[in-house]
Amino acid sequence: KDASGKPRRVLLKLSGEAFGGGSVGIDPHVIRRIAEEIVPAVKQGVQVAIVVGGGNFFRGAELQQAGIDRSRGDYMGMLGTVMNCLALQDFLEQEGQATRVQSAIQMTQVAEPYIPLKAIRHLEKGRVVIFGAGAGMPYFSTDTVSIQRSLEIHCDEVLMGKNGVDGVYTADPRKNADARMFTQLSYTRALVDNLAVMDASALSMARDNNQVIRVFGLEEAGNVTRALLGESIGTRVSS
Ligand code: UDP
Repeated sequence: KDASGKPRRVLLKLSGEAFGGGSVGIDPHVIRRIAEEIVPAVKQGVQVAIVVGGGNFFRGAELQQAGIDRSRGDYMGMLGTVMNCLALQDFLEQEGQATRVQSAIQMTQVAEPYIPLKAIRHLEKGRVVIFGAGAGMPYFSTDTVSIQRSLEIHCDEVLMGKNGVDGVYTADPRKNADARMFTQLSYTRALVDNLAVMDASALSMARDNNQVIRVFGLEEAGNVTRALLGESIGTRVSS
């Protein structure tokens, strides 16, 4: 809870890349571990909404390179995110955690439609809400959707869980030994310096609406719980 006694509500973005464990499809061990790390934070009263990416299945831009119409490829990408949502839902339910999946593309047998007020009710009841199918619109990314959903359901922070990095660096730490991690970063610096945090649409939407973002690494054990509980790990992006 914050100073006013309002429970902490966060939007956790999980990249599809993490779900795939580096290849196409899902790595159940990774998803189970992430689920196990979410539950303790919910038990402590944190309201957790999640946006799941789909890069472990399809990315529209890559399918376009392979000769598929961009919008159709984007829809394929969105459908991939729903499979990730169902996998995460299953591991959370196995941990005894109540969940709901809400999809931006209607598929009522497997997911509720996206209804923001209903999502808020679920959160208030201690359920984890998992948003699938991105925005339901081609040419968007799940990063941008994370900011939008966070704004719409009034989250305190967007927690961007990344694979392969533990924050935002001055340069690519895998290629440059001198690269240093920012603990604080402004939206404008991230945009102007083109720092590889998330896409520019997501960053500019966050800047326009003052949505605080924390970028952190998913791989280190315990990091998901730490981020959900509000620990200062990774990089905080704000004005
Ligand atoms: N996508 C889309 N609209 C959205 C969200 C996603 O068209 O609102 C498509 C897009 O093709 C994207 C793919 O779904 O490449 C998978 O999502 P994303 O790349 O954001 O997943 P991540 O990189 O986080 O795994």
